Amino acid sequence: MIYTFNYKLNYFFGGGNMISSAYISVGSNIGDRLLNLRQAVSLLKQNSHISNIIVSSVYETEPVGDVVQDSFYNIALRLDTDLTAFELLDFIHDIEQRLHRKRIVRWGPRTIDLDIIDFGGQTIKSENLTIPHKERDNRRFVLVPLLEISADDANYHELIQDKLNKTSDTNWINIIESSEVFN
Ligand code: AMP
Repeated sequence: MIYTFNYKLNYFFGGGNMISSAYISVGSNIGDRLLNLRQAVSLLKQNSHISNIIVSSVYETEPVGDVVQDSFYNIALRLDTDLTAFELLDFIHDIEQRLHRKRIVRWGPRTIDLDIIDFGGQTIKSENLTIPHKERDNRRFVLVPLLEISADDANYHELIQDKLNKTSDTNWINIIESSEVFN
């Protein structure tokens, strides 16, 4: 397992817990898609180990792959946490279970899907977690919302803009709601 720290993006805080900034992508294309996103954001906000959440606008996006299915609603979030990347992964799996995620086909429809896109500038390659997320640079539905919410993080914003300029993904993506729906 490769596991490195970027100390510029991690810092020590209060009782000694290390705080990391993480970027998360959330998508839904079954049922009430906006409600599913709002419930996922609400569960993230309720976790006492997570703070300073910034949420993007809501984007309607074309499904990737050949499975015929409804369009997705996607958002990106930035948050601070004293959880490790693996603890955050456990928590997002817990959210997926609580929102009754259904996933029958790979690339197919799902009630809710949460992915950790970046975590504290770390590189992680383990059996159940890859950071940065291995599909980050191939998905406009990840990159476009990330670009929106990373304006205050100049280096990351520049990285995401570069990836967006270079991606081969041509699927459509449109803003349909402002981030105020999560207030
Ligand atoms: P998916 O169907 O895209 O939600 O993939 C779920 C699986 O991907 C889970 O079993 C995770 O352990 C694994 N995985 C690997 N890297 C990540 C990541 N960065 N974020 C979320 N899930 C991940």
